[in-house]
Amino acid sequence: MLRVDILTLFPDYFRGPLAHGTLSRAVQGGLLTVAVHNLRNWAEGKHRVTDDYTFGGGTGMVMKPEPFFRAVADLRTAEAHVILLSPSGRLLDQDTAKDLASHGHLILLCGRYEGVDERVAAYLADDEISIGNYVVSGGELPALVVLDATARHVPGVLGGGSAAVHEESFATGLLEYPHYTRPASYQGMHVPEVLLSGNHQEIDNWRRQQSLLRTRQRRPEMLLDANLSDEDIEYLDSEANCETSTTCEASAHCEAPD
Ligand code: SAM
Repeated sequence: MLRVDILTLFPDYFRGPLAHGTLSRAVQGGLLTVAVHNLRNWAEGKHRVTDDYTFGGGTGMVMKPEPFFRAVADLRTAEAHVILLSPSGRLLDQDTAKDLASHGHLILLCGRYEGVDERVAAYLADDEISIGNYVVSGGELPALVVLDATARHVPGVLGGGSAAVHEESFATGLLEYPHYTRPASYQGMHVPEVLLSGNHQEIDNWRRQQSLLRTRQRRPEMLLDANLSDEDIEYLDSEANCETSTTCEASAHCEAPD
């Protein structure tokens, strides 16, 4: 069971994503609770102002620290892990998402405008997370990405037991193998024969090999850290030879449509 509190200036932003698919099922199943809070509830004054000008000059407004500090003081539990969404944070990856799921309680702080007063990162947040090397307009989308990626690691959230999360891209240090569904043949494009064979050992082997090839083609740097068996390495070597050969017909990826 994971509890998540989100602090944002735009609580309605979360309605759609929380009402659909995996997140919605997890909430309904009692595996996840998500409370979205309007940060203005912790702002002071008639206008409940949450931002102010930048000390030192510059365009754009900065989010004030006090509402964040007050809100977190109210919401914090002993197991809470407070995360500021920020382009300057550490990059979210599958291992990070898995690790976050082991905390019983996450508090996600969404920035807006030019960002959040640095004292929030320095003295309030336990963690700063970025969803990628680009800037989006607010912390709401990043918070949803962190929430979704993390919830998938909460036991029971994904159907089909825990197998699904263990087989997904990155979980094994490799990209996932390709998937196909019916029809087996469509406009001259055929599903690889092996997947129709019913031979589970051969299917497992083919999937492993496809993962290896796909990772080498698209994300070769991942292979440096992947846990490869002697058989995997032998296969990649043989495929490297195949790719430079004009006569090799051994691998499924060499097949062309009719
Ligand atoms: N001026 C900031 C900078 O250059 O780093 C960007 C501020 S951005 C427009 C406003 C808010 O969006 C940030 O405070 C943060 O909460 C969120 N945000 C934007 N890009 C993000 C990313 N890649 N990862 C996580 N949060 C992000």
